[in-house]
Amino acid sequence: MGAMLLELSAQVQAVYAELDALVARYAAVAGLRCPPGCSVCCQSEKVEATVLELLPLAFTLFRTGQAELLYRRLARGGGGEQCLLFRPDLAGEGGWGCSQYPFRTVVCRLFGFAGNRDRTGVPRLAACRVMREAGIAIPSEGGFAAEVAPLLPLFAEAGLRITALHPGLGTSRRPINQALREALEKAGMALELAAGQNRTAAEELVEPPVEPPDQPLPKAA
Ligand code: SF4
Ligand code: SF4
Repeated sequence: MGAMLLELSAQVQAVYAELDALVARYAAVAGLRCPPGCSVCCQSEKVEATVLELLPLAFTLFRTGQAELLYRRLARGGGGEQCLLFRPDLAGEGGWGCSQYPFRTVVCRLFGFAGNRDRTGVPRLAACRVMREAGIAIPSEGGFAAEVAPLLPLFAEAGLRITALHPGLGTSRRPINQALREALEKAGMALELAAGQNRTAAEELVEPPVEPPDQPLPKAA
């Protein structure tokens, strides 16, 4: 089970790297960017993710000795509040407020830079209100929607890519804190099982997961 979860974790990170590349390409062509230091979407209490999306972070937290402390904080909360990975002190000029930015989930990567198909099948950007209010051009309103629409990352397709990796862990979305708590439990169980079998296997499981390549980040101004 442990090796399978670790392999899944690496596969999730590979999907993340591809999504980052899609988002960066769309942002460049569409001229979208987040205002420097914005963290409004992280302050929402409605961020959701699947357990699978949090596995890479869960293994990393065990590797770096932070899992237990964070798990206790997550267990105290109900799971439906603001993301516990959000750090207001990291937001503002030069930061986006995410304490685990390389491991953020699918919606964190896509929000503001992705959309859905309309009833006629045309991809439509789900425009971010903050960008709109900051006067950043929104493709669907600027007369160049048709040009950039084929490049638009789609929420549904990204979700299906995660589900395809493991339908049991990658389909049902729950509040992000709850998903992280469950991911820590899965990773913890995997590590315990491996430790029970032999020490080498347990050590292998806490090897650092493959880091996503340095893609241009969507929030870069
Ligand atoms: S996607 Fe929107 S709310 Fe989120 S950081 Fe960018 S501008 Fe702010
Ligand atoms: S994981 Fe990071 S980017 Fe996503 S909501 Fe939490 S703080 Fe924000």
